[in-house]
Amino acid sequence: MNYELHSDDLIRAKATLGDFELTVLSDGVYYLDGGAMFGVVPKPLWEKRLPADAQNRVTLGLNTVVVRTGKHTVVIETGIGNKLSDKLRGIYDAKEQLPRAFAVAGIRPKEVDVVINSHLHFDHCGWNTTRTPEGQIIPTFPNARYFAHRGEVDHGHLQLERDAVSYISANYDPLIESGQMMLLDTRPGQVEEIVPGISVECFPGHTAQLLAVHLESDGRHGCYISDLIPTSAHLDITWVMGYDLYPLTCIEERKRFYARAVPEHWLVLFTHDHQMPMGYIRWNNKGKPEIEPSHP
Ligand SMILES: [Zn+2]
Repeated sequence: MNYELHSDDLIRAKATLGDFELTVLSDGVYYLDGGAMFGVVPKPLWEKRLPADAQNRVTLGLNTVVVRTGKHTVVIETGIGNKLSDKLRGIYDAKEQLPRAFAVAGIRPKEVDVVINSHLHFDHCGWNTTRTPEGQIIPTFPNARYFAHRGEVDHGHLQLERDAVSYISANYDPLIESGQMMLLDTRPGQVEEIVPGISVECFPGHTAQLLAVHLESDGRHGCYISDLIPTSAHLDITWVMGYDLYPLTCIEERKRFYARAVPEHWLVLFTHDHQMPMGYIRWNNKGKPEIEPSHP
């Protein structure tokens, strides 16, 4: 197995993928309603996989993947950040620990040259920018080019009743205004290269333009599938989230994903799984997707 899971709270896993080195850093666990995380799936089924607390909340991770390609240092996703209101910080019990995780891993924010956001919900792009003690908003990765889908920015700006709370413009507007964030127009079916070996592809359903990030080196393939499959408890094709804007699309896109990820043995990286930030997926004898047990 070319990956190892860690019990450390800041550095959750490491892997090699061809010539790429992958490090999974955590912005800390946070808590969401278990019902919202599992949509129409009855609680007696989902709580066997992800137990709920007395308030029906489940514990989720905030996984940032740092990829060192040899030429580039690429960051995928940036957690919740430190710009939430006091009320929201309390609700999610936001840990604000990603900068510490970078320090412990020995990765300096200055050396990051690319940041990719799969979408712009606040729990995926929070440390794009940092609020200083003086209240200034500054880029966390001063030398990076940031990438996000233009459709996500436009959707966030609409501030719709359904999901306005998910979009905090201080996570992206200052970067767009300064020219540091590039907006992608990636279309369905198109794979867009960011740097050699790292590309994005739309897997819509959670949002209309959710981007997965492909990592390819020396014949190996990894994929950060983001909120199309947020944790390893969500592998079943129909176990989509209440948060998903287009649940039927999620189901179709999961089929499309597994049709390649299983036979091609992709290392799948999960955005919100604190315990299992990555794994390989296989079909079990009932025809359902499951994580391959690790064998060192
Ligand atoms: Zn999410």
